[in-house]
Amino acid sequence: MVWRDVPLGRWLRTVGIAAAPLALALIILAALGLIPFGAAALTWLGLTIISAAAIYWLLGDLLRTKRDIELMARGDDITPAGGRSRIGRELAQAVQRLERESRERTGRLVSDHDGLKRALDALPGPVLLLTAGQTVVRANRAAKTLLGGEPEGRDLAAVLRNPDVIAALETAAQTDSGQDVAFTLQSPMARYFSAHIEPLRQPAADGTAIVLALVDVTAARLSDQMRADFIANASHEIRTPLATLSGFIETLRGPAKDDRQASERFLAIMAQHAERMTRLVGDLLSLSRIEMNEHTIPADQVNLAALLATVTDNLEWRAKERSVALTSDIEAGLPSLPGDSGELTQLFQNLIDNAIKYGREDGAVRIRAWRDKAGERDILVSIADEGEGIAREHLPRLTERFYRIDTARSRELGGTGLGLAIVKHIASRHRAELSIKSEPGKGSIFTLRFAPIAAE
Ligand code: ADP
Repeated sequence: MVWRDVPLGRWLRTVGIAAAPLALALIILAALGLIPFGAAALTWLGLTIISAAAIYWLLGDLLRTKRDIELMARGDDITPAGGRSRIGRELAQAVQRLERESRERTGRLVSDHDGLKRALDALPGPVLLLTAGQTVVRANRAAKTLLGGEPEGRDLAAVLRNPDVIAALETAAQTDSGQDVAFTLQSPMARYFSAHIEPLRQPAADGTAIVLALVDVTAARLSDQMRADFIANASHEIRTPLATLSGFIETLRGPAKDDRQASERFLAIMAQHAERMTRLVGDLLSLSRIEMNEHTIPADQVNLAALLATVTDNLEWRAKERSVALTSDIEAGLPSLPGDSGELTQLFQNLIDNAIKYGREDGAVRIRAWRDKAGERDILVSIADEGEGIAREHLPRLTERFYRIDTARSRELGGTGLGLAIVKHIASRHRAELSIKSEPGKGSIFTLRFAPIAAE
């Protein structure tokens, strides 16, 4: 309806505004005698009626378009209604175009935002985007896992309680330059991190002004520590027999120079220490050689039954020394496995030697080899002794270099503390898993499970 679209008052006012100057111009023209009064009145009436109609159409379109824009601004999905006049139609089309473009732009922004989020989440290291005031704008998945909870929207100091990082962030903001800082998180266990802080030249629309990227350097730190410990331990192990040898040499040159009996005794002890050093150096060299090859799959095929028989024969004399009975139970028809026979000999030698050394005197050491009953293709080899066994707290550390439960006893029995470390590395090269079961007072069982190695 006419009067619903165009309010009557507003229409009349607009018509009045258009008709008044026209009337004034015609009155002046008539007063000057340029046109007769009747013609002026008729012209005014005609033009006023035409303008009133045009204003009605235009005003209607404008008001309908205004209403459409208001509805769109509220978020309503509408089809613009304007369009009875050409201007109205064009306006309606322009509004539709505007709305379409604005939708596309919003869609692009949403997808950019989503893409950024997914890209950040795909990064393996924790990354936090911060405002200049150090509030967390965004934290990627790794950062959430590390820091726990929901860090976004919180103050960084409440999420990552580390004064060094906070200080470095302040320096970065003041100097507008990147900063690197190392820090440690103590709970639930010590983890070492390197943090890189990069301030942005222009803060992003979401308020991000600083990027904080963390790198977990725990593994590298521990490996450095292990290397340092290893060198310290190895030096210590070699220094002790060396110091003893030097001592005896001094004695033999000085006070015991002419004492033949003492010389014989001292030379025997010196020979023992020299042997110990030789064993130690031999084990150190083996370890480094094995470590170098650890990531190459052995190319030869090894007959495990024959290899175990040879190792057992070679150690028979050691077993006899301690009156230990060596027994073997090797399943018939075991398939050969890809392996390095030299390394596997060393592996079983170390395990059987340990079982003889730490087993019960007059006891037994049982060597078993069999195929997994569950139909798997795994081959298992176990070495069981009847010794004192190993307390549970030592089990996880037994394969560490130089880790010994009783250092004096190990040395007395000729141990270097490297035997099980060598076993672990050889096993790893052969894709074998070492498990140790032990009950104090009842003995220990060392089992190796060889999984089939797929050709590469
Ligand atoms: P070591 O040269 O001292 O024997 P290993 O690396 O072979 O060094 O073994 C590390 C430690 O593990 C030994 O010192 C010993 O305390 C313990 N151990 C190894 N095998 C046995 C075993 N069969 N029974 C009890 N303890 C063992």
